[in-house]
Amino acid sequence: MDISTLTPGIITQVASMVESYIENSRDKYLPKAAPLTTEQRALMEPFFPAEILDAVRWTVLHGTRIQDPPFYTMARIMGIKNLPSFADTSAVTFIDVVVSHEEFSPRLLFHELVHAVQYAQLGTKGFASRYTSGFLKAGGYAENPLEKHAFELEQRFNANPQTEFSVADEVKRWIGVEQISYF
Ligand SMILES: [Zn+2]
Repeated sequence: MDISTLTPGIITQVASMVESYIENSRDKYLPKAAPLTTEQRALMEPFFPAEILDAVRWTVLHGTRIQDPPFYTMARIMGIKNLPSFADTSAVTFIDVVVSHEEFSPRLLFHELVHAVQYAQLGTKGFASRYTSGFLKAGGYAENPLEKHAFELEQRFNANPQTEFSVADEVKRWIGVEQISYF
């Protein structure tokens, strides 16, 4: 299927399935997840609002991977080939629950916390609809605008971990710019 022929109706339907997948996954992993350690929190404090650092929970999977949404099977039959597989990622953030395939690193935590800020500002529905139209239109995981912005901020942090900046302000500005090109 040529992605450009997907109707807005189909994109909306897929987005609402992504939204349910996010909510169900959050509920599934929350009981296993723990708050940030004092050390992790101290590293992230110059960049993130206290309410994000308080709310976020983190879990590392051992011997298992995050499962792709159930509707992926149907989507693949329909010919949508470029769905990002969650099992192949380093970690996935479901609203305020980070589920990781790798042990903690400051860079990975930073990246996932950017997603937590995106969720907080866009709402789960807004996040899911941008994520869905992002990967359907941009043609893959790394080209997704939410991912691109998270990578950009992660790189900025990684280049200068001592130079403070507000991720919340950056995401707010980014949503403003994105809004114009989104519709
Ligand atoms: Zn990401």
